[in-house]
Amino acid sequence: MENSENTLPTNFIHQIIDKDLQQGINQGKVHTRFPPEPNGYLHIGHAKSITLNYGTAIKYEGKFNLRFDDTNPAKEEDEYVRSIKEDVKWLGADWEDRLFFASDYFETFDEYAQILIKDGKAYVDFSTPEEISTMRGMPTKPGIESPYRNTSPEDNLDKYNRMKAGEYEEGSAVLRAKIDMTSPNMNMRDPVLYRISKTPHHRQGDKWCIYPMYDWAHGFEDSLEGITYSLCTLEFENHRPLYNWFIDQVPGIHHPRQIEFAPLNITYTVLSKRKLLELVKTNIVEGWDDPRMPTISGLRRRGFTPSAIRSFCEKIGVSKVDSMVDHAFLEFCIKDELNLTAQRRMAVLDPIKVTITNYPEGQSEMVTCDNNPEDPNGGTREVPFTRNLYIERDDFMEEPPKKYFRLSPGKEVRLKHAYYITCTDVVKDESGQITEILCTYDPETKGGDSPDKRKVKGTLHWVTQEHGVPAEVRLYDKLFTKENMLNLEEGEDYKDFLNPESLVSIKGCVLEPALKEAALGEGFQFMRKGYFVIDNKDSAPDHLVFNRTVGLTDSWAKLQKKLKG
Ligand code: ATP
Ligand code: MG
Repeated sequence: MENSENTLPTNFIHQIIDKDLQQGINQGKVHTRFPPEPNGYLHIGHAKSITLNYGTAIKYEGKFNLRFDDTNPAKEEDEYVRSIKEDVKWLGADWEDRLFFASDYFETFDEYAQILIKDGKAYVDFSTPEEISTMRGMPTKPGIESPYRNTSPEDNLDKYNRMKAGEYEEGSAVLRAKIDMTSPNMNMRDPVLYRISKTPHHRQGDKWCIYPMYDWAHGFEDSLEGITYSLCTLEFENHRPLYNWFIDQVPGIHHPRQIEFAPLNITYTVLSKRKLLELVKTNIVEGWDDPRMPTISGLRRRGFTPSAIRSFCEKIGVSKVDSMVDHAFLEFCIKDELNLTAQRRMAVLDPIKVTITNYPEGQSEMVTCDNNPEDPNGGTREVPFTRNLYIERDDFMEEPPKKYFRLSPGKEVRLKHAYYITCTDVVKDESGQITEILCTYDPETKGGDSPDKRKVKGTLHWVTQEHGVPAEVRLYDKLFTKENMLNLEEGEDYKDFLNPESLVSIKGCVLEPALKEAALGEGFQFMRKGYFVIDNKDSAPDHLVFNRTVGLTDSWAKLQKKLKG
């Protein structure tokens, strides 16, 4: 993450680390990890966690691990492992040779469980899940002890071994820690360490039929890898006492420090993996990488760059307080970057024919266009100009209102980088529809300026009929219509707020010829239309498909002003 170096703004976690370093804690080492469960694709919230964990390791010249938290065989798949590795790498976080799987530690978790059992701190419980839940009670009322709670360590070890050997059915027994059934923290009321599952595991096959619960496994994973700071989202704050308790039960092992931060939430967006999975499974979206999805692969396909996503994650900062980030800010971050880097091109999305009647038939010439007015080294390109052109249908009005500065009968406008033209007539079909606009051009205005300083108010983009490249263009909008998707009323479902216009596909667009050479992932500004990128799935040389990453409207600064009123 080259440009993260020194740029990850300091935050409360770094203040904690600075203090620790001053006191010589962890011998000055900083070691973080990103621990995804391979049960879905990564989303922009995960990018925040990756940026924080990797950025922190870089800042303190420490290490960063990628670890798959693959402790639940039922929901995990190798496809997710593959996509997560690809996305983390694409974001620029480098785990070097430290790629780990929690399932590789199953033997160790098993040894640790036996330590607890022998110490009388864990027991096999044959109560039903409902009974366990009822006995746990409510935070305001002490729980009830299980009838299996005070069985002997020998007895429990025997039962645990039988559980492991597959002698019991799924759901008929669990191993629980013996902690405190009266604790106001429900997580401490004899949490479950292991449950039985006979589903094969994606890496372990049917070697195991007991699987560790998240809380039991996670701290040990961190400990075994020598993680010093286990950074996680706020919902784990109440789990921290348990995280610490488990590690304290096993003598002599490394004790990482868990620090919680607020998860990322974005307006008009859902970031729950369960919901994103449902959108995919029910074909509401085209897949995990649908450009409307807040997934890393969706954002990539939409035209976001790793640097823009990192910049977003760095700018929103890290805090302990839950908050909602404006969707427009994510768009601002990519716009801000593409404004400086994207080459300008001309693309007519809804073409109408224009004929320059005083331009010789069969003649063509090149006009010079700058690639990026924001970039002094952006260079220029040559674009062909001929008698037969296309412009946008809505850049012409036969009977324009006042202050319509584009083309209309008798009106003169500039064709960007080319000539001034004046509309002289229109051609209509039987139904009265305009099929062609007739214009004359002023040969003295080549390059888009008139020697007599004649002013025109409108400047239009255009493409020649002979050289224009056909393409499909997809315009995207927010997937949901409700601003705060976390705030649903009773009886409302998040799917009630799907935006029916989140995807508009326009076929029959024409692009200037240079766009035939567009590289995957290269963002372009289509003049007056927004920023676009080649679709990395559906585009082919004989059927170009471009996705709109983001429109050209409102900068963040303007938006802020508007919001302030
Ligand atoms: P679930 O656990 O419900 O499947 P998850 O989004 O928490 O979903 P994990 O694979 O457990 O998925 O997440 C990996 C890491 O990413 C965790 O450390 C988690 O805290 C962090 N993370 C997840 N969502 C966000 C978010 N919205 N903002 C910041 N970090 C997040
Ligand atoms: Mg999680």
